[in-house]
Amino acid sequence: MRPNPVFTIAGKDHLKALHDMTRSISRENLMNEPKQLIEKEVEAMAETLFSVSEFLLHNPETAYQEFKACEHISEVLRRNGFAVEEGAGDVETAFLARPAGCKATRPAVALLAEYDALPKIGHGCGHNLIAAAGVGAALALTRVLGENAGGVALVGTPAEEGGGGKVRLIKGGVFANMDAAMMIHPGQYNIIGKGMLGRIKFTMAFHGRTAHAAGSPDQGINALDALVLAYNGINSLRQHLRPDARIHGIITKGGDAPNIIPDYTEALFYVRAETIDYREEIFNRVLNCATSAAAAVGGSVDIHVHEPSTDPMRHNHALQDAFIANMGLLNIAVDKDPGRTGSSDMGNLSQYMPAIHPYLAICDDDIPSHSTAFRDATVSERGKAALLKGAKLLAMTAYDFLTSENLREQITKDFAAGMSSQGLH
Ligand SMILES: [Zn+2]
Repeated sequence: MRPNPVFTIAGKDHLKALHDMTRSISRENLMNEPKQLIEKEVEAMAETLFSVSEFLLHNPETAYQEFKACEHISEVLRRNGFAVEEGAGDVETAFLARPAGCKATRPAVALLAEYDALPKIGHGCGHNLIAAAGVGAALALTRVLGENAGGVALVGTPAEEGGGGKVRLIKGGVFANMDAAMMIHPGQYNIIGKGMLGRIKFTMAFHGRTAHAAGSPDQGINALDALVLAYNGINSLRQHLRPDARIHGIITKGGDAPNIIPDYTEALFYVRAETIDYREEIFNRVLNCATSAAAAVGGSVDIHVHEPSTDPMRHNHALQDAFIANMGLLNIAVDKDPGRTGSSDMGNLSQYMPAIHPYLAICDDDIPSHSTAFRDATVSERGKAALLKGAKLLAMTAYDFLTSENLREQITKDFAAGMSSQGLH
């Protein structure tokens, strides 16, 4: 039987071995000079990074409206010796920043800054901390690499929450001359990556014919009945799906009045799964539920897919291991993954190029993401400590990537090995 990928913790032994290894060698031996310098650089700019995080916290902007965020971050970058191209990839609130005066070179690493907020609860997903950590990593790494910093880039990626910003940046060619992407995300655990799910968001619109519900029901075609049949069909389908699959939806239009047979109803649904193939398979089976329900009442159905769809995370074990080794250097233990997961446009980027999306704890698990308490935790003492750790870890891992041909070869091999449906750690 295929193990439940969402709720098992894969690679436990592997993790433990890595831990024992990093513990047995003293920190000083492992920590080479550039990495010590990275630590010092990040510490030295701590107040600047906290102020970026706080500025974003107090000026939350939702998907593709992140004008203040872009302006503020660009200004901090320019003040610190970066050249910033605003509107990168033809996306108004995206940017591409590189060390000024350095010719862009390969290999190149994209450090990512997300900065979009959620409606109503502001930075309840902690993207203010993501942006600040990305800025810190880019500045520290550049200072340490000096004139060899041509492979460092910071990409401002808007609209992670539902807007698929990274998908537009891929299409806009922003990542075309880059070789790996990395970011950190605040959370409740220190974990290297989750098996994020691919997602299709779509509207089902059922068409029927109005008639008086009491006087002439025989002349009507009930679009609400079709929707309810489809909903029940989907519920029956659930029993036969693999554990990583998720289908959830709401009725957004159910009719106009009880005495009118509804001629139009609408539902908004998400289908999610851990692989692209399985996501497509479930989506097709849900479409069968919809079309057969429409046929059953003598009506019809239109399906509208809301682009872009989200791809599942393609894990890169070599890049993840490099990050874990650096966590060891900073004495950060890797936690067990509790298996809770969602979807992100980072999944799409990870299908395009080697990428990692680790999490660093800023609170305990009694505080859920997408809450005001989580938002406040981003600027707590623990949140600030995680921000600095995140900046250091990103810079150190990017340093490894840029300076070790061996590591890059492994990463390329892992990427070429294809779709990994299992979360590693
Ligand atoms: Zn997020």
